Amino acid sequence: MSRAAIAAMTAYTLELRDAAIKLNQNEGPDDLPRAFKEELFRRVVNRSWNRYPDFELTELRSALARANGLEPDQILAGNGSNELLAATVATFVGPGTPVVIPRPTFALYEKLVAIAGGTVVPVDIDPATGVLPLDAIVRAAGPASVVIVCSPNNPTGGVLPPDGVDELLATGATVLLDRAYGEFDGGRATSPAGAGGIARAPLITFSTFSKAWGLAGLRVGWLASAAETCREIRKVKLPYSLNIVSEAAAILALENPWLRDRNVERVRKERARVMDALGDAAFPSQANFILFRARAGLFDDLLARGILVRAYAGFLRVSIGLPEENDAFLAAMKELA
Ligand code: PMP
Repeated sequence: MSRAAIAAMTAYTLELRDAAIKLNQNEGPDDLPRAFKEELFRRVVNRSWNRYPDFELTELRSALARANGLEPDQILAGNGSNELLAATVATFVGPGTPVVIPRPTFALYEKLVAIAGGTVVPVDIDPATGVLPLDAIVRAAGPASVVIVCSPNNPTGGVLPPDGVDELLATGATVLLDRAYGEFDGGRATSPAGAGGIARAPLITFSTFSKAWGLAGLRVGWLASAAETCREIRKVKLPYSLNIVSEAAAILALENPWLRDRNVERVRKERARVMDALGDAAFPSQANFILFRARAGLFDDLLARGILVRAYAGFLRVSIGLPEENDAFLAAMKELA
């Protein structure tokens, strides 16, 4: 028998459908250049595959520190930010810990809290505006609680205001700030160094190579926090979770920040175009996706035209794709309106 908390849960699921145009997972629409892949394999071929990866991931953590104005001991890297979110929730959430989470948001948070036996304190996002309800989150939080906020939020696309992190920290709560889509928001309000300073425990920011860097298949994420907080989370995180190929890919990516910048610029340009076309049905988004109100059946009608999006009750979320993919989506939307 599984534990009662697990038996009561549903698994993290995804509509697994084949479609010519895949706009359902907020991935970067461009693959990495072939030269990038060949350089990566040149580096990896020269490594000893019979040996474990670097225990401390020193080279990657140092490169992340340099790129983000931090110290290496303020960083942990892992197998996607999912892994680090899991380790962090397990570090801070025990039976009965109140965890304030806006709704709707990334479904994984509530699952991790349920596994840990914590108590989710949901704060509804106003369905009329999609704006992150900072004041209500602040009212619900206190020194005994954990707050998990994603900015820009998945799936609504809204961001915290510039002083939002300060207000959250002022409650005394442990603040987990997921900036998986942070590169797309154009501001530095939630950047690890900018978000009130990582040295200010208890703030932990989560970043990923899966979105703006276009490396979802390689599974690399990282967190930043005060060194003493990193030391606590490291007790929980599994050793060697990041393999040598993924570590080398992240290091190579950091040597080529133009790749990320090009992706972000393209997404922001296309996002404005898709947003304009969707009009009032869409929530303003600072991410690489847009949530919009949709009639019943639209998900299947789009799928019948080879376009896969993500369904939420009463809404659809479309990732920003290549210009021709966005054209196809918008043409189908016009036809299906
Ligand atoms: N946080 C959010 C808000 C996400 O949407 C996702 C991916 N869907 C993740 C984290 C996980 O990212 P990673 O690929 O780094 O595990």
